[in-house]
Amino acid sequence: MTITYISHPDCFKHDTGPVHPESAARLWAIEDALRSSGLDLALRRVDAPLATREQLLRVHSAELLAQLAAAVPEAGIHWLDFDTAIGPASLAAAYRAAGACVEGVELLLTGAAQTVFCGVRPPGHHAERNRAMGSCLFNNVAVAAAHALEAHGLERVAIVDFDAHYGNGTEDIFGADPRVLFCSVYQPDAYPQTAAGAKSKHIIKVPLAASSGGAELGAAVEEHWLPALDDFAPQLLFISAGFDGHVEDDLAQWNLVEADYSWLTAVLRGVAERHAQGRILSVLEGGYALHALGRSVAAHLKTLLA
Ligand SMILES: [Zn+2]
Repeated sequence: MTITYISHPDCFKHDTGPVHPESAARLWAIEDALRSSGLDLALRRVDAPLATREQLLRVHSAELLAQLAAAVPEAGIHWLDFDTAIGPASLAAAYRAAGACVEGVELLLTGAAQTVFCGVRPPGHHAERNRAMGSCLFNNVAVAAAHALEAHGLERVAIVDFDAHYGNGTEDIFGADPRVLFCSVYQPDAYPQTAAGAKSKHIIKVPLAASSGGAELGAAVEEHWLPALDDFAPQLLFISAGFDGHVEDDLAQWNLVEADYSWLTAVLRGVAERHAQGRILSVLEGGYALHALGRSVAAHLKTLLA
């Protein structure tokens, strides 16, 4: 089996300045780990197309698209909030990041791929229908899920999010859409410090306190995610794959290690095999400790490949 790895050179060109942790160095760290692990040889590389306006408007407002277009500076960086940057090349990166995920859905649902990883930035899960925030411009995984539902007529898709920061944007977009099961773990006192709406049958959010590690993650997944996923039986499984819960990552305070990401990935593969013909689309979200990010993505992909 191979993994289809979708990215684009434009994703490296989104400039967030010299000190911001969400930088192109993250993608370079992943590339380095793929080569040093030998995984690179098992990947089929695909260049991301640009998402279309129609694809983005399924989950975002026309006002947001206009606001972002108007915010692009001729040079330098315009800050939408304290960590959401727009430079001259940022919108192209954002359209490629969302387009990568749409292309992944196309490849999965036409049988041209079985497992897809989108190594893209900017990340997406904080972007709400009408607001870019938290380093996210478009909600990449949401654009992809909506494409599966609207363009391919799927009736049930699941998005699981193991980034330490709550995927507020994904809940904002799909909170009222029972065709999408959203399963999340998050550190409640970390950004965005809210998990706004109520829990529901299709919004499964499990807070894990600072210092949580593999045992706590495992219990959350087995007690809360798996019963919901098996009951829902998604036709396609999306992963918001954020690796900032790693013990070496300072942007959250969990104590996860590569083996925890491998375990979780194997569990999620089982879900996809039981319900979704094995089809998984995994999308990079956070992960800012560069070496840990590279090793963790390698562990994730190695388990998807096994
Ligand atoms: Zn995060």
